Amino acid sequence: MNRWILLCDLDAFFASVEILDRPELRGRPVIVGGLGPRGVVATCSYEARAMGVRSAMPMVKARELCPQGVFLPPRPQRYRELSRKVFDIFHRFAQNVEPCSIDEAYLEVVGDGPSIAGAIQEAVGEATGLSLSIGGGPNKLLAKVASQLAKPGGIICIPEGKGAEVLAPLPVDILPGVGPKREALLKGQGFSTVGDLQQAGLERIQALLGERAGRDLFEKAWGKGPDHLASPGLPRSISAEETFPADIPYRDVPSELQKLSQKLSARLQTYGLVAYTLTLKIRFPPFQTSADRSPPRGACGMKRPSSPWPEISLPSISREDGIPGGCASWACASAGWSGKGREGSSSPSSDRSEELPEDSWRGTGGRERRPPSRRAPSRPGGLSIP
Ligand SMILES: [Mg+2]
Repeated sequence: MNRWILLCDLDAFFASVEILDRPELRGRPVIVGGLGPRGVVATCSYEARAMGVRSAMPMVKARELCPQGVFLPPRPQRYRELSRKVFDIFHRFAQNVEPCSIDEAYLEVVGDGPSIAGAIQEAVGEATGLSLSIGGGPNKLLAKVASQLAKPGGIICIPEGKGAEVLAPLPVDILPGVGPKREALLKGQGFSTVGDLQQAGLERIQALLGERAGRDLFEKAWGKGPDHLASPGLPRSISAEETFPADIPYRDVPSELQKLSQKLSARLQTYGLVAYTLTLKIRFPPFQTSADRSPPRGACGMKRPSSPWPEISLPSISREDGIPGGCASWACASAGWSGKGREGSSSPSSDRSEELPEDSWRGTGGRERRPPSRRAPSRPGGLSIP
């Protein structure tokens, strides 16, 4: 196999950067995230994970589980600086790079996958001192699964034709898209491993999950997935969000959304993009999220990316929509577009850190990562499953 997709993922990125800059923290449970009353864990070191701490967990709970932890606020600028160095290395080795987040990207490489992965890992280690896990395969699905198996600090490459065999003994939640709910549903029906799904046959899975979701999962179980990367560097959506330190009265929500729309507008302008749809989300106590999406293009006054949206309103998120106490704890505005919506000539940056909601760790509204699932023991070095 000459063409490989690699998923490169920095290990416990924010926590690793903190340890890199303060070596005395090595070996201690380091937890990075919002330290306020509504803060959530952004990342934590493996020592903290051993105590049960996970990304996206409320900080209050993390403190309960790990009272001896070192709790630190995030330093986004420093993370971006290191991320840029790492992405520069990715571009040196790869024909094509598809960033997934500030610390993770798919790479398309030609040649001997495992040795290229080894060289990338070494280059990243030398340039930054950070630990990188790499999974490789003929498609994105297998690269993703392999990278989970390789964590922390390993390399696992699954050659063409071996996907189904490698997946068979693994638990169902190793497959992307199988979260705790679906995992419980599948296990309730006797599907514990990916091999169980392979044996069940397409029709049984479809009867359980529906036609489309069933087919999707069945194909994943057999190791099938997209084998081309998305067009480089173009994010599919950009968002701005805010978690309020204390609940705000409902009458203040429109002005807060106006501020978010201006932030969003500026970010769109950076990329030279025109939005196609606009989504508004608001979270009401107790933890109830209401969302509304605009009809395609134009309905929300989004024709010019440079101007704030004068018509922004709360289309169908009304006070009657269930707002106990008439206040909001969190708000988010995001914009998405189709390929046609591109305008202007400014080139998007090489990574998509811009689309990471910088403020997500301050509260409960952030993009959540699934906590690491059960993994096979990591295998360091340029290992390829034969
Ligand atoms: Mg990572």
